[in-house]
Amino acid sequence: MIYFHIPFCKQACHYCDFHFTTSLKYKSEILQALKDEITLRNHYLQDQNIHSIYFGGGTPSLLSADEIKALIDYVAKYFVLAHDAEITLEANPDDLNLQKVQSLKNTPINRFSIGIQSFFEEDLRWMNRAHNSTEAETAIKTVQDAGFQNVTADLIYGYPLLTNEKWQSNIAKLVDFSIPHISSYAMTIEAKTALAHFIKQGKTAPIQDSQSAVQMTMLIEALSSQGYDHYEISNFAKNQKYAKHNTNYWLGKHYLGIGPSSHSFNGLSRHWNISNNAKYIEGIKNEKPFAESENLSFYDRINEYLMTSLRTMWGISLNTIQNNFGQDVLQHIAKQITPFIATKDVQMIENHYTLTNKGKLLADHIASELFLIEDD
Ligand code: SF4
Repeated sequence: MIYFHIPFCKQACHYCDFHFTTSLKYKSEILQALKDEITLRNHYLQDQNIHSIYFGGGTPSLLSADEIKALIDYVAKYFVLAHDAEITLEANPDDLNLQKVQSLKNTPINRFSIGIQSFFEEDLRWMNRAHNSTEAETAIKTVQDAGFQNVTADLIYGYPLLTNEKWQSNIAKLVDFSIPHISSYAMTIEAKTALAHFIKQGKTAPIQDSQSAVQMTMLIEALSSQGYDHYEISNFAKNQKYAKHNTNYWLGKHYLGIGPSSHSFNGLSRHWNISNNAKYIEGIKNEKPFAESENLSFYDRINEYLMTSLRTMWGISLNTIQNNFGQDVLQHIAKQITPFIATKDVQMIENHYTLTNKGKLLADHIASELFLIEDD
């Protein structure tokens, strides 16, 4: 699978710490560098077929349909693209006007990930999103009317303006659109963001973990009652419309990340590109990309498996642990997980440890209690 990081946004959301710039000055240089990076690194995936391409960012919907198509064509030059490959475009509602959506029908894009975040105008202004509440609704409608069925939308919860009533209403709106997939994240405060600064200055109230826990529980209950599988901590899908791309991350499949700040994984090591557009362009131009990598130890691989699999509805497979990591690791996990089974945060179903709804609120803590460190 291939991930493209498109490092441009119209304006900076107050909570965001992804890599992006609001200047489009170097857009054509970046687009050329993305293609050149594909050429330079086309053996990274050892000639595996491509089952998904994901345009993330930043805001990839700032690119034109022709620019997106050119990148996909470039991938097809070097890789075999599976006939049923999932090709996702992250898009902001203000970019999804009728003309843009129609032009995207002439590209291989077959899935949209729309950054709705909230349907309330005051919340969108507080977040400093580029779209308004009307655009949030019309974007979904426009994409669906154009015949795109495979759509996911993002919502954020756990921020001071979001009352439980508003949260219920945001969830209900997405359900009413019959969207087959929903991703939802608790607001987190990242250092150096405008939001962190406002909280420090007392201009906005801090985030309360207790509010996030209540609203996550509301989300799980509301979407489960509407037939959505809670298949990963932050992801819900109806009729098995699980995101291929993300599911493959969680299953430990290999991926090639193209673009500034993007990450890659080939089973043995992780590789990440520099988070600086000018340096990224320069490195690619000189065929010496600015990037770092680290080899994964036996323990890194176990801990990653525990962390990612526990967050999914498929859970930790005892067979996978036994086959990939051995009997000693299996015994360690069985011992460490016993208290969480006793408190009904974890259950064992058909040789898999999975989280209960109560346990989902403690996913990261439980995973960290299972981790192996080198002296164990
Ligand atoms: S649009 Fe997305 S990437 Fe851009 S600033 Fe907002 S949250 Fe960050």
